[in-house]
Parts: sequence; C-alpha cells; structure tokens
Amino acid sequence: NYDTEYLFQKAYQAKLPYYQKRVFLRGLVEISNYCKMGCRYCGINYKVHTVDRYRLSKDEIIACCEEGYFLGYRTFVLQGGEDAFYTDAFLVDMLQELKAKFNNIRVTLSLGERSYESYKVLKEAGADRYLLRHETASKRLYEHLHAEFMSFDNRMKCLYNLKELGYQVGAGFMVGSPTQTNEDLVKDLRFLKELNPEMCGIGPYLCHSDTELAGNDSGTLTETLIMVALVRLILPKALLPATTALGTLDKLGRENALKVGANVMMPNISPTENRELYEIYQNKICTGDTSVQCRGCIETRIEAFG
Ligand code: SAH
Repeated sequence: NYDTEYLFQKAYQAKLPYYQKRVFLRGLVEISNYCKMGCRYCGINYKVHTVDRYRLSKDEIIACCEEGYFLGYRTFVLQGGEDAFYTDAFLVDMLQELKAKFNNIRVTLSLGERSYESYKVLKEAGADRYLLRHETASKRLYEHLHAEFMSFDNRMKCLYNLKELGYQVGAGFMVGSPTQTNEDLVKDLRFLKELNPEMCGIGPYLCHSDTELAGNDSGTLTETLIMVALVRLILPKALLPATTALGTLDKLGRENALKVGANVMMPNISPTENRELYEIYQNKICTGDTSVQCRGCIETRIEAFG
C-alpha cells in the first residue's frame, strides 16, 4: 500500500539525524514470574494456574548481568511480575552491588507500579531508567483489559512520578488488544506527545489461551508497524524497541520495526532454564537459547537488514 510505504520511509528517515543506523542493545533479565496484578491479557497474572512460578535470587540476577557485561551489554533491564519478594531493601542492595561491580553500566527497572517513595529510594540506589508501559491511554480500554482492583489513574500517576524523580522513563502500549479502536490508538499518540518519554515500547497484543481473554484475535504486524512509525514521527528522539512480541508474531517483525523507526533491541540474558516460564504470551522466541546465542543472533539479524 502506497500510503503505508510512504509513512514507513518518513519514519525511518526521522531517526537518522539523531541516531543514524545505530541499534542500541539492552540485556533483558526476567527476574520473576510471580505477580499479584490482574492484567487480563498477561499469561503470568495472578489468576493463571498453568504456569510454574520462579524468582531469581540476587546472586542469580548479578550472574546474568555478569554474563551480559562480558557479551558487551552496558544496560541491564530487570523486568518481572509485581512480586512482593522484591522489597525496596532487596533492590537497593542489589542495585548498589551491581553499580559497584560493573563499570559504566545503566540499570533499567521494569517491576510495575510502586510508591513514589519506593521509586525514590531505588533511584538513589542507582536505578537510571524505568519501563512502565501505560498499556493504553484510554480509560475505557484500560478498565476492559485489567482487573477491577487496578487503576488507570494510578498507572499514569506512576509515570509522572518517575519523570519527576529524574528517571529516564519508558511508556508504551499494545496494538490490537480486544475492543481497541483507532480512537483509542489516537489517545496513545496524544498521551505520548504530552508525556514525552525517553523510551516507548510498542508491541502487538498476543492472545494467551490460559487467560480470561482467550479466544480473541492478536494484533497484526502491519498495524503495529504503523504505530511504531507514527510514534517515531511524534517523538523523533525517543528510543523505540523492536519488541520481542513483534518478533514472535512474525519471523522478521523486529527487523521490519527497525526499518520503520525502531532503534533498540533487548536480547534476553535470563537463565535459559527459566525463559519458558516467563510466558506473558505464548510461543515466545529465543526461550531455548543461551545468552551467548542471542548475542550472536541479534547481531546477524541487524546486519542483514543494514
Ligand atoms: N510487571 C511489569 C512488566 C510487565 S511485562 C509492568 O507492569 O510493567 C512487560 C509488557 O509485556 C507489559 O507492559 C505488556 O504491555 C506486555 N504484555 C503482557 N502480556 C502480553 C500479551 N499477552 N501480549 C503482548 N504483550 C503483552
């Protein structure tokens, strides 16, 4: 389609003045699949009984980062379900140890909604960035996709708190989630323009058959690429990952995203034996690979696409 191709070209060109063809790599450690939250699309929400739960100890997390450091990564993204095991005290201790052990690293946390005070002590202990997708900027859709005890306003508040505390903030949303309309997606674009986050993760909704939303259609490659491209035009300097969800939906989904404005990839550096258990959606790619294999694979893929 001519219009889509035109959009994709413009979006690719929009990142060039700031980033040229560079792609930033961030090592992703999935630290726990315990979660107290009720995101109805997510395969590790507290209601899902078909998943074996695991959590990594401090030493295990640091060992993953050590391997990642050796592979050349300098940003580590520690992501997990909302697991009360990871208290402020635990995380502060871990952050201080990481920052003391490795030179010149950045630590990104992605551990969901926490209090202002918590975000503050984590920042002071060395956290640099925080990824917290807003999921959708439509209150109606947010409430449709999440358990009743969850709050759209609190999630938004968390993002503004993180900004105020000086984090580099990552927002983001899913494309093609059940009942999402184009009006909802316009709300995402307008919200992003206002929040002006440093990062924005955009991926297709992938239907998980063990969740309450089983039986719905997943998002599509084209629709997701259109949203990546539009966000690139709206936030020309943002860091936009070519997401694993897009790579799961389509063999070349991530490469396509790089061609329409994305400029980050997040190779997995979790222990191979836990990867299948972090099943936020099914058929996730790279679950059988080691961190070394992912490092090589990602580089080959990026180079193959120029
Ligand atoms: N607990 C953290 C991390 C969530 S997992 C937090 O609340 O931020 C990271 C992202 O995966 C989520 O923000 C969500 O957008 C995405 N995700 C979860 N389930 C998904 C699914 N079934 N399909 C596509 N993306 C999903």
